[in-house]
Amino acid sequence: MSVVQRERTLRTALPGPASQALAGRRRAAVSSAVSVGNDIYIDHGDGAILVDVDGNQLIDFGSGIAVASVGHAAPAVVAAVSEQAARFTHTCFMVNPYPGYVEVCEKLNEHTPGGHEKRSALFNSGAEAVENAVKIARAATGRQAVIAFDHAYHGRTNLTMALTAKVQPYKDGFGPFAPEVYRMGMAYPYRWPGGAERCAEEAFAEFTSRVHVQVGEDHVAAVLLEPIQGEGGFIVPAPGFVSMLSQWCAAHGAVFIADEVQTGFCRTGDWFASEFEGVVPDLVATAKAMGGGLPLAAVTGRAEIMDAPVAGGLGGTFGGNPISCAAALAAIGMMEADDLAGRAQRIGERITGRLGELAAVHPQIGEIRGRGAMQAVEVVVPDGTKTPDAALTKAVLAGCARRGVVMLGCGTFGNVIRMLPPLVIGDALVEDAMDVLAESFAEALA
Ligand SMILES: *Cc1c(COP(=O)(O)O)cnc(C)c1O
Repeated sequence: MSVVQRERTLRTALPGPASQALAGRRRAAVSSAVSVGNDIYIDHGDGAILVDVDGNQLIDFGSGIAVASVGHAAPAVVAAVSEQAARFTHTCFMVNPYPGYVEVCEKLNEHTPGGHEKRSALFNSGAEAVENAVKIARAATGRQAVIAFDHAYHGRTNLTMALTAKVQPYKDGFGPFAPEVYRMGMAYPYRWPGGAERCAEEAFAEFTSRVHVQVGEDHVAAVLLEPIQGEGGFIVPAPGFVSMLSQWCAAHGAVFIADEVQTGFCRTGDWFASEFEGVVPDLVATAKAMGGGLPLAAVTGRAEIMDAPVAGGLGGTFGGNPISCAAALAAIGMMEADDLAGRAQRIGERITGRLGELAAVHPQIGEIRGRGAMQAVEVVVPDGTKTPDAALTKAVLAGCARRGVVMLGCGTFGNVIRMLPPLVIGDALVEDAMDVLAESFAEALA
C-alpha cells in the first residue's frame, strides 16, 4: 500500500464525500466527548504522507501527536510487527516473560541521559508512565508531595489530571482529584512579568520560597517537569531553569522526574530533551514515539529508585506487549541507524527559517519557539499586549486542513500552532507544508 508519489495531492474538497459519510457514522456511534480535530478519515500512510478514504494525500505535520517519528508504515516496523504477531501476541510479561521486553529496557537504559546504573519498567500510555513514576518516587522517598507546574500536561487518568494544569477540557466535571499535588510557576520567558532575561532566576526563587512555605522540602517526593512543555504550548523553559530544579531535587532528597513523553526519542534533536542542558533526571517517563506507532510507555531511572517499590508493585496485564516491543526495537533501530536526532535538528532549522520569514510579515506571530522538529508559533493580537488570538489560530489551522496539511494547535490559551512532522520527512514536503501555512495565515488575515 505504499504511496506512489510522496506529495500532497487533493482529489476532492476536504473532507471528501467518503470522509463525510464516516463523520455521520462517527456522530452516531462515538461518544462526543472524544472530539476530533478534523473529520478526514485515513486509509493508509507512507512516511510523512497520509492517504484519506477519498484518495487525498495529506502532509502529516502532527505525527499523531509526536508518535509517528519514524514515519507511517515504516517497512522495518511493519516487518517486526508482522513477524511478532505470527509468533505470539501476548503472554503477560509477569506470567511468561519474553526477550523483547528485556531488550527494550536495555535500549532505554542505554539512551536515556546519564551513565549510571539504570532499570526500566514498561507500560501502555504516557499517563500510565507518569503515574508509575510518581508511585516509584513515593516508594523510594517515603514522601508524598509532588510538584507540578503551570501549563503542564501529564495525561487524563485521575492522578495525571491532578498533575495537569488546565481545566478545559481535561478536568472539567471529572473531580475529585488526587491529593498532595502542588503547582508552581513555570519559567515561561515570553510571558514572564520581569522579562525573559530574569525569568529562570525569578521563577526558581519563587519555586524555592513557595515550596518552603507551602509544602516543606522534606515532604517533596518528586518534582515533575516536561523539559519542553507540550500541550501547554511548546514552552521552552528559560535557560537554566531545568538544571536548577534538578539540582534542588538532589540537594533536598527529592526525585527529579522528566516527563519526556512528547519530547523523547530524537524529537528535539537529542535523544531526550533533558540532554540539552546536560540534566540527568532521576526518572524519565517516555511513551509516544518509542513504540513506532504502537502503544508502549516506560519509566527509566536510577536502579536504587526503580528497585524501591515492593516486588509485584509495578506492572499490568498489557504493559510491554510483545508486538509493541518488537515495533519499538525496530523504531529505535531506525533512530540509531538513520541519525533521526540529527535529522530533527535539520528539519528544525528549515522550519524556523520559514517561520522567521512569516513572522517578518505577520506581527501576529508573537514568538517562534521550540527545539529540533518540535517547533511552534504563538499567535497574538499585534498591539503590544501579547493578548492571545485563539480565533486566528483556529482559522489558520482550518486553512491548513482544507489544503491537506495536518497541523495541530495547543497552548493554555489555545493560541499556539505546533509542528511535529515525522523525522523521516523529506525537504520538499517540509517546504510545501510551510507554503501552506503561509497561505493559510494570509487567507485568515485577509
Ligand atoms: C501525551 C502526553 C502524556 C500522556 O500520554 P498518553 O499516552 O496520552 O497517556 C503525558 N505527558 C506528556 C508530556 C504528553 O505529551
